[in-house]
Amino acid sequence: MSIPSTMKAVVIEQTGGPEVLQFKTDHPVPTPKEGQLLVHNNISGVNYIDTYFRTGLYPSPKPEVLGREGAGVVAAVGPNTSGFQVGDRVAWLGTSGYAEYTAVPADKTVKIPDGISEEDLVASFLSGLTVLTLAKETYPVQKGDWVLLHAAAGGAGFLMTQVLKSMGAKVIGTAGGAEKCALVKSLGADLVIDYRSDEGKDWVKLVKEATGGRGVDVVYDSVGKDTWEGSLEVVKRKGTVVWFGNASGPVPPLPLQKIAPKCVKVARPMLFGYIETREEFEFYTNELFSLLKSGQLKTKIHKIYPMEDIVQVHQDLEARKTMGKSLLKP
Ligand code: NDP
Repeated sequence: MSIPSTMKAVVIEQTGGPEVLQFKTDHPVPTPKEGQLLVHNNISGVNYIDTYFRTGLYPSPKPEVLGREGAGVVAAVGPNTSGFQVGDRVAWLGTSGYAEYTAVPADKTVKIPDGISEEDLVASFLSGLTVLTLAKETYPVQKGDWVLLHAAAGGAGFLMTQVLKSMGAKVIGTAGGAEKCALVKSLGADLVIDYRSDEGKDWVKLVKEATGGRGVDVVYDSVGKDTWEGSLEVVKRKGTVVWFGNASGPVPPLPLQKIAPKCVKVARPMLFGYIETREEFEFYTNELFSLLKSGQLKTKIHKIYPMEDIVQVHQDLEARKTMGKSLLKP
């Protein structure tokens, strides 16, 4: 496989709005180091976390090529790196995915099984692994649990609604707008609240009513700033609130006294903490593969954007215009 010296990539030199995303055609192709593979990406995932690195909410060195996941073909194998060969069809988690070629950690790379497309896998890879860890480890969901899931029509939310229903939970999903709510309902959610509508703005009251005043067993909240207080209000006594994202801004520092009266447990997980070892990574990727292969987990691709439209991609994501996952075609 001949590897060019330069490639298409999206680079940011400083933090800021979507306008700092620069599409370049002459970015140097990286050389894989020890423990790395060079992957020729056919498709890259766009995740909300990319916006945090762009704005500086999550600090990272600049200049930076954003993007945390992709799928494609191994183009070169770094020194002392085993388990993969040039030509293998793989998906990976790492950094610098908004590019034609990425040097990725071999220990966070998997061969894609036959029968799963690269698009379906990237639409469910980082998001799907997150969802599985949240529902199995952060709070192990039990059959019959009442669960509140915010942003249920998003990249992670669309997958999480399905996983929660398959585990026998009673799911209350929130989403912004009628179309998103209809999508969440179609996945079997027991109650869907449009938290941007006049009636749905009082979602705290609606959730309490739906649970007979008791509250939910667990809240999965990735919206953060706009929802965190309501999430604490609707969780039951001895329940759990899982904050796992900041789509509206981060949850402010929490006075611990606030969680005392109901003996609430709070968690602030991140995917990589659950898949640090190869064994953990393979456990969850195998689980994801079997859900995809059996058809139990469906993906939803909002749109596959050409890489040169990257500014639009971030604008759409932050304007809450997307349902399911956005993908980039390098
Ligand atoms: P989404 O596709 O879900 O996009 C974010 C969604 O959040 C929007 O579509 C919107 O849905 C909702 N939202 C609510 N308030 C706002 C706001 N003020 N501005 C923008 N969006 C808002 O993104 P992802 O699937 O990539 O990620 C979902 C969440 O999960 C993110 O918070 C992300 O950080 C988090 N995450 C955390 C991980 C971890 O390891 N902790 C790993 C993966 C994701 P609506 O219009 O319905 O309100």
